[in-house]
Amino acid sequence: MIIVMRSDAVSQNIEDVTNLLKKYNLGVHISTGAECTIIGVIGDKRIIKDIPLELMAGVEKTVPIVESYKLSGRTFSPESSVVDVDGVKIGGKELVIMAGPCAVESEEQILTAARAVKKSGAQMLRGGAFKPRTSPYSFQGLEEEGLRILDLARKETGLKVITEVTSQKAVELSFDYVNMFQIGARNVQNFELLKEVGKSGKPVLLKRGPSTSIEEWLNAAEYIMSEGNYKVVLCERGIRTFETATRNTLDISAVPVVKSKSHLPIIVDPSHAAGKSAYVASLSRAAIAAGSDGLIVEVHPDPKSAMSDAAQQLTPEAFDKLCLEISQIAKIIGREFAYENK
Ligand code: PEP
Ligand code: MN
Repeated sequence: MIIVMRSDAVSQNIEDVTNLLKKYNLGVHISTGAECTIIGVIGDKRIIKDIPLELMAGVEKTVPIVESYKLSGRTFSPESSVVDVDGVKIGGKELVIMAGPCAVESEEQILTAARAVKKSGAQMLRGGAFKPRTSPYSFQGLEEEGLRILDLARKETGLKVITEVTSQKAVELSFDYVNMFQIGARNVQNFELLKEVGKSGKPVLLKRGPSTSIEEWLNAAEYIMSEGNYKVVLCERGIRTFETATRNTLDISAVPVVKSKSHLPIIVDPSHAAGKSAYVASLSRAAIAAGSDGLIVEVHPDPKSAMSDAAQQLTPEAFDKLCLEISQIAKIIGREFAYENK
């Protein structure tokens, strides 16, 4: 349930309501909006229903949340959230582009990629140090050595770093080296891992699974948020359909649907959706035009030599062209993106 406070409610009113709820051991989550404060109450419905909340000073009304997800839904927080990744704000007017190779392969590869994507306007560097591959015999990532390389690149370029975590151990190992954790498509319903990144307090990019409905995806976000970590950004990366011409089918409709159901920012990964570099730019342009708050794009200094996902990674030149196009679309739709390689 949510409690909508009157616009003239004072802080004492809010405190009285929250203290009462806490007495009943209910979860209390406060969302302070420009118009009014909303208090989200989580717990046993039978207990909540018997508390005379509407009689309390400052309370406008109580509204049941019908969706299975609560904290990630728009009912709880009508205003769109902006997630701050150490100064890079995702979900505001400015579009955020994360770019870099699929996997961290060497110091030279990451530094070359980082310098190039920064020049084109990317604000964040991506690169996997732990690679969840379909085959156990494929390259599994450089692990801690990879994290050290990412840290080196962030120190040199000032780019914020995002990397995928696949286990509790990876969360612990990565914590000091990166600015944002990525939960990969395969782990979207790994609830223990979701709770772990929730407890970490670090911003999380939560990919949609290949067969995850939007409701299941928002419930996955709920696992992170119910641990007190509200810094969640969703990422549509294509779902599995009957179509085999692309690696996955980019569900572009997920962008407006998520925007209507959730206050969380959403970005799009055109690389894992397309599976082929030739399609990445069109999917990226479509995503931004549809209202995505940004992109996460695979860029490799020499895609043909890549140790994973070689077919879908852009060259720095192709990425640069894409960034110019994104800056042009941004102007038309009232967003901002600073393309720098003028
Ligand atoms: C990745 O970002 O390299 C990756 C493995 O993506 P996904 O989890 O979307 O397959
Ligand atoms: Mn990849």
